[in-house]
Amino acid sequence: MNYAVLLFWLAATSVSAAASEPGTCPTQGNWLQVLGSGGPEVQDRRASTSYLIWIDGKARLLVDAGGGSALRFGEAGAGVKTLDAVVFSHFHVDHSADFPALVKSSFFEGRERGLPVLGPSGNHFLPSATEFVQRLFDAENGVWPYLAHFLPGERHFSYALEPQDIDAEADDIRQVWENERMTLSAARAHHGPLPALSWRVDIKGGGSVTFSGDMSGRYAQLPELAHGNDLLVAHHAIAEDTTGVGRLLHMPPSLIGDFAARAGVGRLILSHRMLRSLGREAESLALIRKRYTGPIDLAEDLDCYPIVPAATKKPAAAGFVH
Ligand SMILES: [Zn+2]
Repeated sequence: MNYAVLLFWLAATSVSAAASEPGTCPTQGNWLQVLGSGGPEVQDRRASTSYLIWIDGKARLLVDAGGGSALRFGEAGAGVKTLDAVVFSHFHVDHSADFPALVKSSFFEGRERGLPVLGPSGNHFLPSATEFVQRLFDAENGVWPYLAHFLPGERHFSYALEPQDIDAEADDIRQVWENERMTLSAARAHHGPLPALSWRVDIKGGGSVTFSGDMSGRYAQLPELAHGNDLLVAHHAIAEDTTGVGRLLHMPPSLIGDFAARAGVGRLILSHRMLRSLGREAESLALIRKRYTGPIDLAEDLDCYPIVPAATKKPAAAGFVH
């Protein structure tokens, strides 16, 4: 999103950007910030997947933590200390590699309360959330045993990670976590043979965002999960004519448009932009606009989007085909 568009939004939503610095979100209201708008390729010159939910100037939810996102997290002015939870769509490198960097950094922040870490159950290809955390920091066999004090049941210098596995095989959409500020719901996402989730965030003060995560669309639950949401962050990793493994793992633009229209979301944000889709935006946007008529943005690292109830876009219909 360019700066002029952001200013227009701010004017339209009566939120002042006066206090924010470049790369940071305003300190009032609810905001989605893109920390990483890229995929696994470093040549895309973007951090890999990661998003933040800001509520009144505090970073409250981290969604994925791909390579490069820890730097963006710092540039955004965020701290682990204020996070209510971390959620993962899945444990591919481009969604999780910077998590240990954030955990280590947080040692210096003085956090004391536990940090829920929610992610999918595992299989032969990828660990579950609990396995991911344990294998990183296990005191005996972990990659970094010197950080075992962050594990549940260990002697803590500061706080404990609280990993929770969400069944990535279940075919129902579930509310899986809440606190006084938000509720989190998850649905399984088809990402080839990898256990993966889409996440929906409902902020209790108002506003909702769904993150598709990486998905082929085969389970087709995204419209129901994102039904009537203010923002939908969809992963635009492939062009329409991509075939093979790329299509097995990701949605083509036409399907993104179909899902966004059926969900009736207020705004569609295209992220996880890879070399296959970069440079072909006009073609992809044309295909999406044939199906979805709401506003669409192409995500850039550190973009901020206000999470405000969408008054102009109504859900197309209640109830969706699975
Ligand atoms: Zn990915």
